[in-house]
Amino acid sequence: MTILLRTVKFGHKSGVLPIPSMLSVAQAENIILNQVHPFNPVHDSEILDLLDAIGRILAKPVTSGLDFPHWDNSAMDGYAVRFEDVQFCSPEQPVTLEIVEEIPAGYQPQRRLQAGEAARILTGSVMPAGADTVVIQEETQREGSTVTILAAPKPGAFVRQRGSFYQSGAPLLPVGLRLQAPEIAVLAAAQCAQVRVYRQPRVAILSTGNELVRIDQPLQPGQIVDSNQYALAALVAQTGAIPIRMGVVPDEPEALKQAMAKAIATADIVLSSGGVSVGDYDYVETILESLGGDIHIRAIAVKPGKPLTVATFGHQEPGVRSQESGARDGEARGQGAPATIQAPILNSRSKIYFGLPGNPVSALVTFWRFVQPALRKLSGLPQSDWGPTFLAAKSRTELRSDGKRESYLWGRFYLTNGQYEFDLASGSHSSGNLINLAGTNGLAVLPVGQTQIAAGETVQVMVIR
Ligand code: AMP
Ligand code: MG
Repeated sequence: MTILLRTVKFGHKSGVLPIPSMLSVAQAENIILNQVHPFNPVHDSEILDLLDAIGRILAKPVTSGLDFPHWDNSAMDGYAVRFEDVQFCSPEQPVTLEIVEEIPAGYQPQRRLQAGEAARILTGSVMPAGADTVVIQEETQREGSTVTILAAPKPGAFVRQRGSFYQSGAPLLPVGLRLQAPEIAVLAAAQCAQVRVYRQPRVAILSTGNELVRIDQPLQPGQIVDSNQYALAALVAQTGAIPIRMGVVPDEPEALKQAMAKAIATADIVLSSGGVSVGDYDYVETILESLGGDIHIRAIAVKPGKPLTVATFGHQEPGVRSQESGARDGEARGQGAPATIQAPILNSRSKIYFGLPGNPVSALVTFWRFVQPALRKLSGLPQSDWGPTFLAAKSRTELRSDGKRESYLWGRFYLTNGQYEFDLASGSHSSGNLINLAGTNGLAVLPVGQTQIAAGETVQVMVIR
């Protein structure tokens, strides 16, 4: 590997350090993730009504003061009995019990069962005191105010014990959980009308290039539509962050510098596309330096996406503040849960700038491979959720690469007879061709050094949706 001597700034120090001309994908991924400091659960969070929190990430653990089930209750329609009264029942030797109470849903039983007594009970209804077992309706015969039990139940049959699903005070939902329908249901059941969730990262999106026009402008010869603005806005939104679309900036250093500075001031993360190659109009990297950014990545041995540039602005001063008011503590808990006050880590939050390549496919692939995990880490998700996700699939066709860079080839994976198969998208695999990216769901990965994967061989596929 060639080593270039360049003036680069690492962290707070400046100096001449040797950096490899191209980082491996794994090295770049590490460098990026190390620059991301997750949101602070106190300072980077907000309290939302439950249904406004769909898709958001929990910033505070939730406990409940309720047991689940809240009381012993019946799992079936039938009769609540004392096991000892019916343990020797059979069709030949049935036992007849006196029905002393009817217990519909929502009713609090008034009586303790005595020997020889039963209560009519319906699914979910509260078990009466003295009863320990439910005999299902199908194994009984009712006549007026008596019921005949035709078969011996198991002791405790069809009784859901209080607290058998969840016991009051135990952890209910952990920090870092994305709230989807099952979690919303649990929170509703625990009477959490409001929850504390992380705020959404703000991501500024800039498109650079003299050739770019907006989606609604007439296209003149030599021009192309700024599709990256839309692709990146969609990706950012799908990752649960807020896209801030800052439009097209021409390849003019002063205009570009102003737009970049504004984007950095506005957002947690900036994504620009274009202007990071070695062409005559590629100014992004130089401007990042002139704005005082620390450049961490200038090129990656990846295809598509080689010129991806990553810089940070400002730096983190992690520290622990010992006294936090905890004034907004107390929400996102069920009844009677203890209030936990966490000492927050204070960050002067740094900004991360991704200079993505302009080619439409390169912009998307570098987002999936490098930006999305960073966004997920920033958002407060646990490491297991940062991604990307890979699966092994049998390639239906031969896959080729020049072997010099880690190559990502787009296509579709299918589950066939319990095994994944990968179908390469037909048509051109130029990084400028975004047409055949539509409808794909995965990227087959050919590592450095591998020039070919034969049809029928296994390939790692990165899941993109
Ligand atoms: P660049 O990296 O600026 O040299 O751009 C590489 C290629 O990507 C050029 O063909 C550009 O026209 C194209 N391109 C750059 N920015 C965009 C964009 N925002 N939307 C679509 N294509 C773009
Ligand atoms: Mg350009």
